[in-house]
Amino acid sequence: MLEENLKKVQENIRIACEKVGRDPSEVTLIAVSKTKPVETLQEAYDLGVRVFGENKVQELDKKIDALPEDISWHMIGHLQRNKVKYIAGRVDLIHSVDSFRLAEEINIQAKKRGTVIPILIEVNVAEEDSKFGVRVEDTEELVRQVAELDGVSIRGLMTIAPYVVDSEENREIFHKIKDLSIDIAAKNIDNVSMDILSMGMTGDYMVAIEEGATMVRVGTGIFGERNYNI
Ligand SMILES: *Cc1c(COP(=O)(O)O)cnc(C)c1O
Repeated sequence: MLEENLKKVQENIRIACEKVGRDPSEVTLIAVSKTKPVETLQEAYDLGVRVFGENKVQELDKKIDALPEDISWHMIGHLQRNKVKYIAGRVDLIHSVDSFRLAEEINIQAKKRGTVIPILIEVNVAEEDSKFGVRVEDTEELVRQVAELDGVSIRGLMTIAPYVVDSEENREIFHKIKDLSIDIAAKNIDNVSMDILSMGMTGDYMVAIEEGATMVRVGTGIFGERNYNI
């Protein structure tokens, strides 16, 4: 089941890339393993998966300890400032930075560890549908503020599109954040790169890739439905 799902997703990534003339190596598949037990992640690891995304600090912490060291862990969920210390230096990318205060805390924790933590700025492109993320019109200002912190390095933007039945409905959202990332990249702000665009989930990752995603976050499509009651 897992193996077939994974192959299917990888194949879809190839198809989406081909459609718009992109090289599949430009797109990183993040296996979103939240709520799934360590054994399932190990199974995915044995099939070659090395990039996992989680959205809860405690769960992430536990899984990092239990699984092989060559895994690249990504924090993709909303992050509270008081929990940054538990994951600082343990994850390769924090996708969900949407305030200066959160970035400041990441900066403090990075400095304590003598490291620089790569982050993405989460943008709420769809506005009414998500309570997290900075508004499109406020993004450049936040990027400029965060860029002053030398313990964090902005690598790009992330967005969560709404759940839709027809993935085409999200095309405009993906297009809009791609445009925003091009605009910000053109400003050549010190300590800011716009190389990463994290967008697209199980329902819409192919459209996201067509619109320029460099990271897609796929959970259900790989691991099946989540059961939050266990
Ligand atoms: C859960 C989650 C995903 C994966 O969602 P699926 O629809 O299961 O692929 C992607 N991104 C974020 C931020 C998530 O919380």
